[in-house]
Amino acid sequence: MTTNPYLNVDQQMVGDIYTAPDVMDNLTVLCDDFGSRFGGTDGERQAAEFIKETLTAYGLQNVHLEPVEYIGWTRGTAVLEIISPIEKQIPCITLPHSPAVDMEATIIDVGDGGPLDFEKYQADIPGKFVMVNSKTQPRGSQRWVHRGEKYGRSMLAGAAGFIFVNHYPGYGPATGGIGRGGEGLIPGISVSYEDGAFIQRLLQRKGEVKIRLRTTDHCAPMVSWNIIGDLPGASADAQIVMLGCHYDGHDISQGAVDPASGAVAVLEAARVLAKYAGQMTHTVRFALWGVEEIGLLGSRAYVDAHADELDNIRFYFNMDAAGGARPKDVVLNEWSELETLVSQWQKEMALDFAVGQSVNAFSDHFPFLLAGVPTGGMEAVERDLSGRGYGHTHYDTLDKVQIRNLRDAAALAARLAVRVANASDWPASRRSQEAVNALFDKPRYQEERAISAQIAQYVDAHRK
Ligand SMILES: [Zn+2]
Repeated sequence: MTTNPYLNVDQQMVGDIYTAPDVMDNLTVLCDDFGSRFGGTDGERQAAEFIKETLTAYGLQNVHLEPVEYIGWTRGTAVLEIISPIEKQIPCITLPHSPAVDMEATIIDVGDGGPLDFEKYQADIPGKFVMVNSKTQPRGSQRWVHRGEKYGRSMLAGAAGFIFVNHYPGYGPATGGIGRGGEGLIPGISVSYEDGAFIQRLLQRKGEVKIRLRTTDHCAPMVSWNIIGDLPGASADAQIVMLGCHYDGHDISQGAVDPASGAVAVLEAARVLAKYAGQMTHTVRFALWGVEEIGLLGSRAYVDAHADELDNIRFYFNMDAAGGARPKDVVLNEWSELETLVSQWQKEMALDFAVGQSVNAFSDHFPFLLAGVPTGGMEAVERDLSGRGYGHTHYDTLDKVQIRNLRDAAALAARLAVRVANASDWPASRRSQEAVNALFDKPRYQEERAISAQIAQYVDAHRK
């Protein structure tokens, strides 16, 4: 039998979380009062203030906003017209960081937009609008192929523009950033499944479809905020355990599951852990990140600004969208030295979460991972490669979120944080840059790593 040295703490924290209304109350304020909290909106600023006040009220110390300067984007109008062989307006939205344009070009259908599709159509792409669907596991691929990669491959192939077609019926267009922290080099727009299917049929019947796209979005320097608060450790040479999640959503959405369900789980963990202030050996730091959706900008800024602290971070645990319906497992970002310990904790907690090992580049753990900091996240070990569902659409709303999922996420995060903050023997330490690079040389990460480096190089070379 496994004994649980934290039984009393676990019982108090879990009992508190499962009987208190706070976690859903906070979610309601973030989503219904502040809207999308997209970078540059009033709701974003109000959410940052609310998070600061909430962490302060919970008794955290050193609660403050850290400004994040970045190139922001404001949505304008977007008019997409088929001008030949018929005339018809098609509803569309632009993707964040898309530039303002007035242009005409023909469309090429590049299917799922995976590596094999681009290989097949490469020669016919230059000067055309590449149309791809949002399937996250394109034909022939064993991995999640991100929208950013499909847009990047279009750009590298000489496309005039990018049309992202939702692969789910009934959810309208799906959004997502394309700019890598600045204005995109080619326009990116998104249409619904149904409108994509219409264009596809027209292409098949008529051979050539020409469109005109007029957009008035604009990019400008903006400031966002990370909100940070601490429960200082008792040890004189305390290290730092971080729990984090972004709070910004996409402007077409409440972003209730992604990210707010994770953000309120972080707040809830802070609320119950604050009752042990001064009793934990190491510091627990809570971070609510700004502007993740348009390039992980808040967490990147944090890692840059706190370079001298990174050696001292025991663990960064990412909670992006963690209070949604997916399984709440612990995915370590290739830290085999932590697996035994976390599995032992899983047994003593008498919970059935799985412990896995993998890396991806698509949330706020990534800047920490690149800097060598031990990282992981609350994710499903068996990743569902079918896609985001209503995520990144207008339909990611509060009514989809269940309080029991928020509580499960908060309770697991709090119980893990207590253990990391008190472990006398912590087996992981910061990786060297060589070790970080070697990690991405593993065959299963190589393809994605190579194309992402090519895209980054191209953007650096061509951005004004
Ligand atoms: Zn997210």
